[in-house]
Amino acid sequence: MNIEDIQKKLEKERLKVQKQIDTIDKSIQSLPDSEIAEEFEGADIMNSKIESFEIKDNMETLLKDINLALLRIKKNKYGVCENCKLNIEPKRLDLYPFAKYCTKCMDEFDNE
Ligand SMILES: [Zn+2]
Repeated sequence: MNIEDIQKKLEKERLKVQKQIDTIDKSIQSLPDSEIAEEFEGADIMNSKIESFEIKDNMETLLKDINLALLRIKKNKYGVCENCKLNIEPKRLDLYPFAKYCTKCMDEFDNE
């Protein structure tokens, strides 16, 4: 896969994630305030709000990673592990085009 294809893929992914964040935002706004809802309903609403915020958080982290990957393409540093500075395996980039670290470093982080 060449870098232009990866860039296109990332830009497409970015749009998708942005749309998902918008959708979550709208659903958060559409939930009534738990304080004015009935006691039981209020707890349910709180739970779905917390859930939505968690999803939104994950999406925003993903968006950041995508933006960073696009930035790295611009700087000609795409596909380089931020930890050991070696090239990230193409197979890994295929699966995670916005990966910051190579598989080896990722494993080390996981074991910490
Ligand atoms: Zn590495």
